[in-house]
Amino acid sequence: MLRWFRRIWVRGSAAVVLEIRNLTVDYGAVRALDQVTLSAREGTVTAVLGANGAGKTTLLRTISGLVKPTAGSIVFVGREISGRPAEDIARLGLGHVPEGQGVILELTVEENLRLGGLIAPGGSRERRATADRVYALFPALVECRDRLASTLSGGERRMLVIGRALMGGPRALVLDEPSLGLAPLVVAQLLASVRQLRDESGYTVVLAEQNARSALAIADRSVVLDLGRVVLDADAATLAADEQLMDRLRRAYLGF
Ligand code: ATP
Repeated sequence: MLRWFRRIWVRGSAAVVLEIRNLTVDYGAVRALDQVTLSAREGTVTAVLGANGAGKTTLLRTISGLVKPTAGSIVFVGREISGRPAEDIARLGLGHVPEGQGVILELTVEENLRLGGLIAPGGSRERRATADRVYALFPALVECRDRLASTLSGGERRMLVIGRALMGGPRALVLDEPSLGLAPLVVAQLLASVRQLRDESGYTVVLAEQNARSALAIADRSVVLDLGRVVLDADAATLAADEQLMDRLRRAYLGF
């Protein structure tokens, strides 16, 4: 719980939390990631952009230990985690928020959150306090706390799945396309909450998105993937302000 409050960092000079070097992933004959290198500093948002099939989900799943890499290194909080079991990586403080609305539909909002807290260190008081923080971050969840997750809107489910990951007490989050299929207003609210996590609690976030504009608006750094390779690694604000480059990227790599 303390972790939620204790990190106040000056972005840019903060320590590197996640360091990926030459990461390669094959699914049989398909090379999904090809020598990907990137690093994320504590208290920053890194946007991983790319069209369908660029390798975003594979990158996030490999960081979290859900996919085994063919080669390369992933160092998280100073430890080599490449190829280690997902449970070990979660225990080191990495929260994975999968694509889609992966909540347990038959459980209430509160029960889904409690489930997320099972891997957290600390007792029930700390878990309760963490849940209160989640409700403060996503006020829309407060009034539906006793409702089944099956009755939630798409945006509320996405908030719940992020909240559930937060309940595990992570220090870094990987978020897979949180905006997918949501209305623009809901996307803006959701991404504002991600920004709040970084600004107020110092979370490190790696955010996979096809929605480049929205992601760049809250990101510090941006990495563009194409066919599993990093084709651009740039400061997010600089990239967002460069209309010509954005236009070229959109046409060449982002598929719209
Ligand atoms: P999307 O935005 O559509 O989710 P993505 O950028 O997340 O795409 P990935 O899902 O990582 O991309 O896919 C990268 C490549 O790996 C694609 O060519 C995809 O078809 C392939 N791929 C992904 N998962 C598997 C799998 N389990 N088996 C075989 N190939 C896969």
